[in-house]
Amino acid sequence: MYSDFTFSIIKPNAVRTGKTGPILAMINEGGFEIAAMRMVKLTLPQAESFYAVHKGKSFFEGLIEFMTSGPVVVMILRHENAVDQFRKLIGATDPAKAEPGTIRKTFAVSVQMNAVHGSDSVENAIKEADFFFSGIERFY
Ligand code: UDP
Ligand code: MG
Repeated sequence: MYSDFTFSIIKPNAVRTGKTGPILAMINEGGFEIAAMRMVKLTLPQAESFYAVHKGKSFFEGLIEFMTSGPVVVMILRHENAVDQFRKLIGATDPAKAEPGTIRKTFAVSVQMNAVHGSDSVENAIKEADFFFSGIERFY
């Protein structure tokens, strides 16, 4: 069922500083199963396309520069009601507002460098997963 899946990225600041393992541990401890995973370095057009919804916003250029600054880990995650449950596990966009114990509270260094991405709807989770993974790489 599509609602059992969400899409996530471990962002460059977290990969660069060796937080991939600790973040994956929190994801697993949060009850999520990793259904697909790969490390990639986004090109400018890929990052712009992935974040197209934010084009024109004040933070867009900085976000694209950041997201292309180093490798990222892209994943499809499985959990009941995955989109909402994962947004709870990662916490608010701004780490200053994130709940204690969330991934962003633990690993974000700023609003921009907030360690992880999590899809905001089932529809976007499907689009984002399709952007990075072909059918043959997925468990579902
Ligand atoms: N972002 C930023 N400045 C802002 C808002 C967002 O740099 O004022 C970045 C941040 O990395 C965030 C991403 O843009 O995760 C996408 O923003 P969105 O509002 O979709 O937040 P999210 O869904 O990631 O919580
Ligand atoms: Mg978002």
